[in-house]
Amino acid sequence: MSTKYVYFFGDGQADGDSSMKTLLGGKGANLAEMVRIGLPVPAGFTLTTEVCTYYYANNRTFPPELKQQVLDALKKVEKSMGAEFGSATNPLLFSCRSGARESMPGMMDTVLNIGLNDTTVVALAKQTGNERSAWDSYRRFVQMYGDVVLELKPKDKTEGDPFEVALEHKREKAGVKEDSQLSVEQLKELVAEFKQLIKSRAGKDFPTDPMEQVWGAIGAVFGSWMNDRAMVYRRTYGIPHEWGTAANVQAMVFGNLGDDCATGVGLTRDCALGTPGFCGDYLINAQGEDVVAGIRTPKRIEETLASDMPESYKQLNEIGKKLEKHYKEVQDIEFTIQRGKVYMLQTRNAKRTGFAAVRIAVDLVNEGLITEQEALQKRRIPADDLAQLLQPIFDPASKATATKEGRFLAKGINAGPGAASGVICLFADEAEQFHEKNPNTDIILVRKETSPEDLRGMKAAKGILTATGGASSHAALVSRQMGKACIVGCSAIEVDYTTNTINVGGKTLKSGDFISMDGFTGEVFEGKVQTKPSEVIQVLVQKTLKPEESETYQRYAQLMGWVDKHRKLRVRTNADTPNQADEAIAFGAEGIGLCRTEHMFFDHLDEIRHMIVAETKESREEALAKLLPFQREDFAGLFRSMNGRPVTIRLLDPPLHEFLSDRHLEEQPDLAQKLASWTNSTVDAVKRRVGELHEANPMLGHRGCRLGIVYPEITAMQARAIFEAAVKVKKEGINVVPEVMVPLAGFLTEFKHQEKIIRAAAEAVFKETGTTLEYLVGTMIEVPRAAVRADQIASAAEFFSFGTNDLTQTTLAISRDDYGPFIGYYREHDIIPSDPFQTIDQEGVGDIMKIGVERGRSSRADLKIGICGEHGGDPASVMFCHDIGLNYVSCSPRRVPVAKLAAAQQALAAGK
Ligand code: ADP
Ligand code: MG
Ligand code: MG
Repeated sequence: MSTKYVYFFGDGQADGDSSMKTLLGGKGANLAEMVRIGLPVPAGFTLTTEVCTYYYANNRTFPPELKQQVLDALKKVEKSMGAEFGSATNPLLFSCRSGARESMPGMMDTVLNIGLNDTTVVALAKQTGNERSAWDSYRRFVQMYGDVVLELKPKDKTEGDPFEVALEHKREKAGVKEDSQLSVEQLKELVAEFKQLIKSRAGKDFPTDPMEQVWGAIGAVFGSWMNDRAMVYRRTYGIPHEWGTAANVQAMVFGNLGDDCATGVGLTRDCALGTPGFCGDYLINAQGEDVVAGIRTPKRIEETLASDMPESYKQLNEIGKKLEKHYKEVQDIEFTIQRGKVYMLQTRNAKRTGFAAVRIAVDLVNEGLITEQEALQKRRIPADDLAQLLQPIFDPASKATATKEGRFLAKGINAGPGAASGVICLFADEAEQFHEKNPNTDIILVRKETSPEDLRGMKAAKGILTATGGASSHAALVSRQMGKACIVGCSAIEVDYTTNTINVGGKTLKSGDFISMDGFTGEVFEGKVQTKPSEVIQVLVQKTLKPEESETYQRYAQLMGWVDKHRKLRVRTNADTPNQADEAIAFGAEGIGLCRTEHMFFDHLDEIRHMIVAETKESREEALAKLLPFQREDFAGLFRSMNGRPVTIRLLDPPLHEFLSDRHLEEQPDLAQKLASWTNSTVDAVKRRVGELHEANPMLGHRGCRLGIVYPEITAMQARAIFEAAVKVKKEGINVVPEVMVPLAGFLTEFKHQEKIIRAAAEAVFKETGTTLEYLVGTMIEVPRAAVRADQIASAAEFFSFGTNDLTQTTLAISRDDYGPFIGYYREHDIIPSDPFQTIDQEGVGDIMKIGVERGRSSRADLKIGICGEHGGDPASVMFCHDIGLNYVSCSPRRVPVAKLAAAQQALAAGK
């Protein structure tokens, strides 16, 4: 039997169905499906994607058996529609439409009104009783045929589209604004002019034979698969060129026969916010592409269709309900109303914002259309998109106004979602002071880049904008943890610290001027743009809104209930302060996976600097003794906030020169003198000591447990602070589970060295206070050696936490601080599939993790293993952690819901 190349649909029957998108394209498969479920669809047939493949494999020719199959299908359509293609009395017209497996909006071609010529146009006029609309259709057809099939384009850049130019002349001559005001006579003249244009430009006559017309259109549609636009689009969205498009030939219905006719596009519910109810655009007395062409401003379905055409509006709503019930998804549709009757021309699953995705998924469950497991599907709510629910957003109207007023400035990398407007501030300390004096004025901290010293300024700012840096730069990391809007790598901005101004796009803005940034999109605007706060935050964190007052919150809570029920992976947070911990708990964090103790040191720089310059153990201990009470209080605060949940505290990790370096001595001229007097030393000696701290490659230098090994008194102080705090809080009646974590160990001996000091501190504190408590001592796995020798390390360590930032740096030998100059090139040229500091490099770093898990559990079967890098909040990485059997991931507070959703999605997908 020969291959079936043509699939008929019409009269309640269809050869295809919605499962056949690969063969029939999305449009063809869904036209067939709509016919099957009894919706009003003009009859037609689909030429499969295999025809397209054949077409390109055979020098743009069709398979021999195609012709007869098309003729047979055409006969069936004629029968179904009760009209005849090319008839001089009762003519049937066709559209010929492209449609690939995945929608490529506007990229390929469509021809309407095929079958019109000087004879059939007269018959059509008689048949419809509307001469004007018949000639209007004819005019459109000749134009589309010339444009799409014969590819008549402007001669050069200065000439407009030749048909549009002729049309404009005609309107001018007739003294009218719109095409719909042209008379029959004028339309007839236009048809003649268009034909003449084709003859002179294409060197051949406009074809009057309907059969020739339809084959020309089919060839053009298949040809449009390889046009420039379509190829660029496919490259951008990763659609393979081999797929090919299908072509749909379908009986025409007319939206341009009078005021009881219309054409439109719609959504079965709103896809920006997810609000239920049909919405969209329509135009009365119009055809096809007029709605999107922008020549006439369409009307809103939800506003006026009910009064313009009450009966049709009712039909449309019923169709919408039927479609949603059938597809169990919001639909994006195209329709035409002919003499009051609605005809469906297209349907597909609608694209939506994260905000709408949540509302729609939850509503569909509550309406009984889908199950809670289905609601959690990745394709319905991409885990990342959940973050949109937590962030303030720009009021879309206000943003549009800003763009219209020319206030758009630049675009950078969207590193921290959220919208913020505030005054520009270029220095962290100024931001802090300004914030103290003007707590009600928001600040945008604009810098070339940020460093740990800018932390307080970053805290005071509402948003952070940097000219350099990538998605895992300091600014990006910290602002995400703080839940602030952040844009990095905005290279169009020139920051001039000396004049306290920024230059961007030829404009100069001063410190104190207003600027607005959209962390969802990376866009920066001059002046203010109004924001809307997230209701979820108002309920959970600010507690300014009651749960019962916010439907958005209620839907969020319902969704998270399902998430918690179906996930296996636990989700902790990276938090250094009680405030961050409280926020994380509000978002459902189940413990702290990483508390970075050095963040506390930045608040007590005097003492830590004293410790660093001290030449003797005694002098160091003296300084550390001053730090101890601060650390103890910090830890106690965290334990109280976490209220019985596990808290992992990492011992001091960064190289000491982050706290004290030559640069600090230069910036603060009296610092060396102060340090000398505290340590009974000289300025020269202090300078020498600080000079010694300089490292050529700090990432691989004296840091992590190497500090605590060379200066054991640091570890002893930190461990003592932890256990004193734990005992204190336990005595207050709160359960405490400290997990002390050694950073950067690669050798078992390193771990054991530190473990001994930690356990000794615990015993001492327990003895002094007469109280004991359970605790764990474990290690980070962040150098490959530790993963490879995990069996040895797990013989002593009671838990592992993969530090995937450092593990990525040490496995790939790529420094996160230095990869800026080449990572962009690598990504653009597909040398690596994704940024390894955003998404775990599963084949490399991931394999090392697998080794660590297997070998670790080979010597300690119940070894608790987690991950605490920034990857803990990245959905793809979370899913990988689920797959390799980790117990938990830890991420910044506002990523907790995202990580939870990703964990549930993977558990459900794996369970199938
Ligand atoms: P696109 O993929 O660019 O949306 P389509 O093939 O869907 O292109 O066609 C665009 C528009 O043309 C449709 O939305 C519809 O308004 C009009 N159209 C297509 N086929 C028909 C038809 N058989 N009858 C009436 N209008 C049609
Ligand atoms: Mg369409
Ligand atoms: Mg590390």
